[in-house]
Amino acid sequence: YNPVEMIGQSIRSIPDWPKQGVTFRDITPVLQNPRTFRMLIDIFVARYMQQQLDLVAGVDARGFIIGSVIAYELNLGFIPIRKKGKLPFETVGEEYHLEYGQASVEIHVDAVKEGQRVLLIDDLIATGGTLLAANRLLNRLGANVVEAASIIDLPDLGGSTLIKETGLPVFSLYSF
Ligand code: IMP
Repeated sequence: YNPVEMIGQSIRSIPDWPKQGVTFRDITPVLQNPRTFRMLIDIFVARYMQQQLDLVAGVDARGFIIGSVIAYELNLGFIPIRKKGKLPFETVGEEYHLEYGQASVEIHVDAVKEGQRVLLIDDLIATGGTLLAANRLLNRLGANVVEAASIIDLPDLGGSTLIKETGLPVFSLYSF
């Protein structure tokens, strides 16, 4: 058996959600099954075990689910990058464009110390706007972002290419 294929086959595709013409890739079945959940986490843990990381930064909200477990397994701290208005302490924010309108992500100003080695993680890369904004936040705080990682990449939308063009390596488990 091939773990990546088993995980890929557990991702559920939902046509026309959240709107007509969009196929939503749903990772909840991967998380629900203890075998695929463990395979998923173990792949990331093996990849980052020797990387001398300090922190895992997960993006709201599915990036929290996998990011926190990976951080725990690697004996690292976890920091949340959240949608605007959710973090209670002093924050810095970065805006990015959506198809219609704007979105914004925030991080606590003291989340990272200068030079700390950070893995940035979310569930999926589409246009790349979310991870690029998250990376800008981490860079503003002086982090050394080692890689941007996701479970799923949608390469036709160009996000992973855009991220790589900024010089940040990208790792995704599965592409659609
Ligand atoms: P991007 O900013 O265009 O790369 O979109 C990525 C963000 O949107 C991530 O935080 C994802 O969680 C979310 N997202 C976009 N499309 C999907 C999808 O099909 N499934 C799950 N999340 C998605």
